[in-house]
Amino acid sequence: MPSDHSSNKVVRILDSRTDTAAEVCPACFGTRVRLVEGKGAKICEVCRPKNVNRLLDAARIPARYADCTFENYHDPAGTGSIYWARMKAKTWVNDYPAVGKGLLLIGQVGVGKTHLAVATLKGLIEKGVPCLFCEFGSLLKQIQDSYNPVSKTSELRVLAPVYQAEVLVLDELGASIPTDWVRDTMYQIINKRYNDKKLTIFTSNYFDEPRVDKHPEEEMPRRTFSRKASAERIRDLTTLEDRIGTRLRSRLYEMCNVVEIEAEDYRKNQDKHR
Ligand code: ADP
Repeated sequence: MPSDHSSNKVVRILDSRTDTAAEVCPACFGTRVRLVEGKGAKICEVCRPKNVNRLLDAARIPARYADCTFENYHDPAGTGSIYWARMKAKTWVNDYPAVGKGLLLIGQVGVGKTHLAVATLKGLIEKGVPCLFCEFGSLLKQIQDSYNPVSKTSELRVLAPVYQAEVLVLDELGASIPTDWVRDTMYQIINKRYNDKKLTIFTSNYFDEPRVDKHPEEEMPRRTFSRKASAERIRDLTTLEDRIGTRLRSRLYEMCNVVEIEAEDYRKNQDKHR
């Protein structure tokens, strides 16, 4: 139990490499993780920063993703892609703040990009890092609403937390229809974080290459698509660059290490995973 150790927060050990005394947590010996019988590995409560709960609230993680962790990000099909994505994200958390770049999680819908982004944020919060989660579509909507004279919010009020967050998740990059305004606004937000050397974790459903087996023109003459189906098809075929523009794509690659996740939509197979 954490309280067993709370009266004795640190123990001193001799570091054989430097011959100096170092302070370590007596419950986890500095690993920040403890083995709890019947429950497996748990975050060590003794050395957990006191403000973790406050940081979790401030991060605005959507309730749907509140329980997402590295531990419950599974690789049911054993493809390896999820394993590596989780490994890269965990390493990033361990290495933080000495990471240099953010993360760009790319994969088709339902492969767990948001899950992994939230797990990463929570890992940082456990280290005491202030973070913020933001879904790009809602952010753009809030900015648009701020132009409404009846609205009580200003654009700056909406954007200040996004600019200031030490680590920000921008979820669903490229999901909004890419009008000029959307592209300019995305660029303005992301470029500000780039200039301020702030780390950002992006998720996107869009790859650099369209994920299709055949070129659309090979199939088009043989089938008639309804307008809606064609629109969906076009949307499915566009690339990250189509969605966010050339200059932002280039900026993104400067800012992030890319982690591609190749897996099936987890929700489609949820019964299998239970
Ligand atoms: P994406 O952002 O890639 O569209 P989500 O992260 O929204 O996917 O995942 C959809 C749902 O499926 C979430 O509830 C998430 O927790 C769950 N999920 C996805 N992949 C996995 C996985 N590999 N292991 C456990 N849960 C997963």
